Amino acid sequence: MKSDKKRYGMLDNSLFMIRQAMETNPVVIWMMALQALLVVAGALLELYGVPAILGNLERKESLGTLLGTICFFSLGIMGVHALSAYLENNQMTARVPVRLTIIGKMWKKVGTCSYPVRESQDFTRLFAKATDATMGNGSPAEDIWNTFAGILQNLLGFAIYLYLLTHVDSLIVAVTLIASVAGFLVSSRINGWGYRHRQEEAEIKNRFFYFRDKARDRRLAKDVRIFGIGDWLEELLDKWLKAQEDFHLRRERAYLMADLTDIALTFLRNGIAYGWLLRLTLLGNLGAAEFLLYFTAAGGFTAWVSGIMGSFSDLHRQSMELCHIRELCDYEEVFLFQEGKQLAADLKKDYVIELRDVTFRYPGAERNVFSHLNLTLHPGEKLAVVGANGAGKTTLVKLLCGFYDPDEGAVLLDGVDIREFNRRDYYRLFGAVFQDFSLLAGEVAENVSSFDQEMDMNRVRECVEKTGLGGKIESLPKGYHTHLCKEVYEDAPEFSGGELQRLMMARLLYRDSPVMILDEPTAALDALAESDIYQKYRDLAKGKSSVFISHRLASTRFCDRIILLEGGRVAEEGTHEELLSMGGGYARLFEIQSRYYVKEPGGEGKTEKGGFDCGKGGREDAGQS
Ligand code: ADP
Repeated sequence: MKSDKKRYGMLDNSLFMIRQAMETNPVVIWMMALQALLVVAGALLELYGVPAILGNLERKESLGTLLGTICFFSLGIMGVHALSAYLENNQMTARVPVRLTIIGKMWKKVGTCSYPVRESQDFTRLFAKATDATMGNGSPAEDIWNTFAGILQNLLGFAIYLYLLTHVDSLIVAVTLIASVAGFLVSSRINGWGYRHRQEEAEIKNRFFYFRDKARDRRLAKDVRIFGIGDWLEELLDKWLKAQEDFHLRRERAYLMADLTDIALTFLRNGIAYGWLLRLTLLGNLGAAEFLLYFTAAGGFTAWVSGIMGSFSDLHRQSMELCHIRELCDYEEVFLFQEGKQLAADLKKDYVIELRDVTFRYPGAERNVFSHLNLTLHPGEKLAVVGANGAGKTTLVKLLCGFYDPDEGAVLLDGVDIREFNRRDYYRLFGAVFQDFSLLAGEVAENVSSFDQEMDMNRVRECVEKTGLGGKIESLPKGYHTHLCKEVYEDAPEFSGGELQRLMMARLLYRDSPVMILDEPTAALDALAESDIYQKYRDLAKGKSSVFISHRLASTRFCDRIILLEGGRVAEEGTHEELLSMGGGYARLFEIQSRYYVKEPGGEGKTEKGGFDCGKGGREDAGQS
């Protein structure tokens, strides 16, 4: 999937940043303008200071006047520096919220965009680039304010100095201008060496870091010893370290050239300008103070000219980075959201969901997952979807939940194509538990209520108790306020896979949605635990439409209807007993799985025929047979 890329120019992106600041913290703009004015004021005070004092001496002014002039310029310069330092220290505090607002918008887009967009490589790449553009205080999304200040101060300084120097002689202006522009172009060409070679640098770095990380990866320590690959790793590490050193050396050489060129051009420019000023002074057209003034102004003029070009080249670079943020936020949606039909806020419980003549292929994939698939989920029905690895079980769930739209055919809710609805409304129909544990680093109660702003604590307790985990949670020192996730909270308790499953079950109960989806949520558990959990789900999901997915056939035998997916279609359909008596693919698969009969020690009642933990390899074996 590729969105039609809009073009965002430098001016457009600058206005975008100004709009963000106006929305979040307009002070940033005033601070930026003040920063620029202070730089120019400081430069003017420094420019006029010494010539003014010298002028006083030349004109033999009184001591009071001389001291007054010295005080005026010294205090002025000190004041400007103090204010600049104050701004410097405080503007970050003002700018960070603007950057955070932009990051917030990016995350909102990522969290709310349609699933195919989120899954697409183009969007993922764009998100990575946009993240780089907003990461840290030096990132373009924050540093751009310095660039704006730079442009403003350099343009202002340029105008003032131009006015000053054309008063003396336009030759000085011409020479300084030409030499400055030439100097800037040469040095930016050479300084662009790093940019032009960034790909090469990234490759060298990536390889070096890869081998360095592998060399110190504890999980590889055993292989390194057994297979004797330590020397090989060390050799590669040396090779890429050397490549890095060579690269740095080449870069330093290029930069040295830039410095030498700059020195030569400065020498030429200053030589001509100062020679000319000296000539005017010797001819008696300029006094010593004026000579000093114009002498300093000629140097300063160069700085403004280079400053203007440098700032615009920074703006160009930063604007390119900002494009990633804007392309991400404006990424074209493939589903209807607010514009779609609304589903009643109070969802009814007896929806019929139908996949009618559905053909689907993943973007970029070579073959269809489904061709002309028909399937109806009736109200209150417990439907099991089984099939080998890759048969399309998860894809079926994605279509049912509206994460993807079919290429042909339609998914219908009570006969209406779901493409017509606000997709977020449609998502509210489902409560799901997917294969990965998707609990977040928050409190137990927050996780159960899915971070509901108006969390009902009694309901949280009720749901957790129904899953049989109430005792365990109550026994924790912080009870329902215990944090999950050890990576974030050191005091987070270790929950077993089964306990986490129960928490997710409680979350599902709290959601109380009309349709319940269980997409192999127990893949990480052993067969007995899975069977146990599925029984629990069955009891708790009474009266709701539910879709149970598993590669372990025995776990879903209690369902009203089982469908076996094979070759992109429903190969068999019926109850467990009906399918067994048909003696087809389901019966064969069940027979194979039954050979791995697991008997729970001392727990006859829970022992499940056909339940086994085959893992990935086992699943594939079962599927191929
Ligand atoms: P199951 O859940 O039955 O194991 P899936 O629905 O995950 O199967 O996958 C069905 C087929 O679609 C497989 O061939 C798989 O490789 C392919 N597939 C799954 N996800 C993607 C994707 N995001 N992009 C391309 N192909 C995919």
